[in-house]
Amino acid sequence: MTVGLPMERIAEAMACVAAWRADPDAPCNCPVCAAAGLEIIDQSARPYSEWYVLKCAGCGLEATLQIPMRGPQPI
Ligand SMILES: [Zn+2]
Repeated sequence: MTVGLPMERIAEAMACVAAWRADPDAPCNCPVCAAAGLEIIDQSARPYSEWYVLKCAGCGLEATLQIPMRGPQPI
């Protein structure tokens, strides 16, 4: 069974991704059930958007998180 990411958990999921990007080796906790071992897969299509897939074996979470980017900055 897969579970989507509830709207009220998106902020937590964003924080998980931010922490994971800062230190990919650090353990992440699931934003839904708080279990350790959250799996994060980077599927970003830079420089236009960042896509991350979050998976949790504990609660069956499987969510895609998009972080829009502003694209290349003009010099
Ligand atoms: Zn979970």
